[in-house]
Formats: sequence, C-alpha cells, structure tokens
Amino acid sequence: MDSFLTILRPRTLDDALAARVAHPEATIVAGGTGVLVELNRGAIDPPTLIDLSACADLRATAREGDVVVLGATTTYTDVLERHADTLPGLAAAARTVASRQIRNRATLAGALVLGDPSSDALAALGAAGATVDVASATARRTIDAVAFVTAPGRCALAHDELVVALRVPVADGPVAYAKAGARNAMARAVCGVAVALHPRRRRASACAVGVAPTAIRPEVAEALIAADWDVLAAPETAKRFGALVAAAVDPIADARGSAEYRRHVTGVLARRALTRAVEGLDAA
Ligand SMILES: Cc1cc2nc3c(=O)[nH]c(=O)nc-3n(C[C@H](O)[C@H](O)[C@H](O)COP(=O)(O)OP(=O)(O)OC[C@H]3O[C@@H](n4cnc5c(N)ncnc54)[C@H](O)[C@@H]3O)c2cc1C
Repeated sequence: MDSFLTILRPRTLDDALAARVAHPEATIVAGGTGVLVELNRGAIDPPTLIDLSACADLRATAREGDVVVLGATTTYTDVLERHADTLPGLAAAARTVASRQIRNRATLAGALVLGDPSSDALAALGAAGATVDVASATARRTIDAVAFVTAPGRCALAHDELVVALRVPVADGPVAYAKAGARNAMARAVCGVAVALHPRRRRASACAVGVAPTAIRPEVAEALIAADWDVLAAPETAKRFGALVAAAVDPIADARGSAEYRRHVTGVLARRALTRAVEGLDAA
C-alpha cells in the first residue's frame, strides 16, 4: 500500500519550530525548487513535509539601522522587486539565477541550506558581510553567511534548527557581480565573484563562489585596497586584484571546467567586478 505524505503548514515561527520538534523525520520545504527535485527522483521519501510558505514570521522583512533583515522565505524575485535599491549586490546576483519561474519560488535561505558553494546569492551575501539568524525551539544564534555553507551539500544548521532570517548590510558604495556559466542565462555559476566598495571606510570586500568546497573571502586581495584606497585609481590595480583573488581560491575539476580553467576565470571575473565597481565610484 502506498504511504501517505503529511503536509504541515505552520503559520507562525513558534508553530514551525514546534512542528520541527514533533516531527524530526520531516523534511522542511520553502520554495521547493530543491526538495521537489529530490522527491521526484526518489532520493528522499519523507513521511512529512513542513511547508514554511504560509509562515508570516518568516516572510517578514524589516530595516534595522544599516541592515536589511530578510525573512527566510524571501525569494530572488522579492530581492529584485523590493530590495534592489538597498541591496544592489544581492539583486545583481539574483538577476543571474535561473529563470523567472524559479526566481519566483526559490528562497535565499533554501540556497544556503542546500549547501551550494557555487550559489550566486552566497557570493553577494559574502561580499556584503551578511549573517544568518537560526533558531531551534530552545535557542537562537547567528552565523556568518560564508561560514554557513560548510562543504558541498552541507551547512551549519543543526537538525532541530530553522533559518529564520538573513541580515544583509545596506550597500554603502558601488557593488558588482561577475559570473561565468555554460551559457549567458539559465546556468549555474562555474564560478562567480562579487565585489563591494565601501568609500567611507576606504575598504573593498569580495567573495568568490564555485572555486572551493566553500565560498572564499579573498583577504589578501581585500588587503590590497585596505592598505591604500587610492590604488583603485591606478589602471593596473584591477589586474593585480584579479591575480590575488585567483591565488586565494582552491578550485576542483569537474565536467564544467578544470581547476586551472576555474582559477584563470576567477581572476578575470574578479578584475571585471572590481573594474565595474570602480566605474560606479566614478559615476557617483
Ligand atoms: C532549474 C534550476 C535552476 C537553478 N539555477 C540556479 C542559478 O543559476 N544560480 C543559483 O545560485 N542557484 C540556482 N538554482 C538553485 C536554487 O537557488 C535553489 O534551488 C533554491 O534557492 C532553493 O530554495 P527553495 O526555497 O526552493 O528551497 P527548498 O527546495 O524548499 O529547500 C531546499 C533545502 O533547504 C531546506 N530549507 C529551506 N528553507 C529552510 C529554512 N528556513 N530553514 C531550514 N531549512 C530550510 C529544505 O529542507 C531543503 O533541504 C537553481 C535551481 C533550479 C531548480
């Protein structure tokens, strides 16, 4: 006899956390673009789904000073339609994700929990210095977004925890995201680099994805700008920055590209992203 699939639709965060405790065997589902693929190919067969899409607490977004708090069920389309002004780096990454249909469903939190080290959103979240709020029925904690994805297919979330929200600092300067994929649209990143400039602090921050088992913050490249902000005006700086980012990554080889190719492309993308961000400084 076929077994039944029970679907729970909690309306509040407390109910969602209680459901997680009561049904440890359940699979959490938000937009379903990852979970439904696994269900359809028979890779998972959970007796219960906890569907977060009706949970008002997880849809809420708020501005807290210089930080935008995005509820866990925020989709790529939400970012593009509601937060492109304050979070242009995240919007630039969101624009490159899949198709409109996927962007309408897929959540940022879902991408992080899937543990995808080539996630476009992860690059932008990393460069922005974003953090992830998680909660269980008994405790809450905050995790750096880059540290959240711990290895391909793995993340820092404990089994009894849910992602509640992402905290993303409002952009305080120009940002850019450069991505290489098999095609110009509807393609996962082979690699991607996000760069954010912070003129008041005279700093640059960057994050590369698809270049190691986790996202990489290229600290030596960031230090080049921190040591001397005025170096941004020099024509050779973007190339030096690209070389430093390429040196910081540890790519794998797979069907989409050799390690050598990925390292080379990462350097090119970092150079392009920094050049675009500097053009934004000049335009401001
Ligand atoms: C056709 C296609 C194209 C894609 N293209 C791209 C691309 O170009 N670039 C890119 O970066 N990504 C791409 N993706 C990946 C996409 O970004 C992710 O599938 C999506 O973001 C996952 O979000 P979701 O809400 O659909 O997650 P779901 O499928 O609902 O869940 C994914 C995982 O997260 C868990 N989960 C979800 N929300 C929570 C929560 N709040 N707390 C705890 N656990 C949670 C679920 O249990 C599950 O393990 C693509 C996916 C598809 C299907």
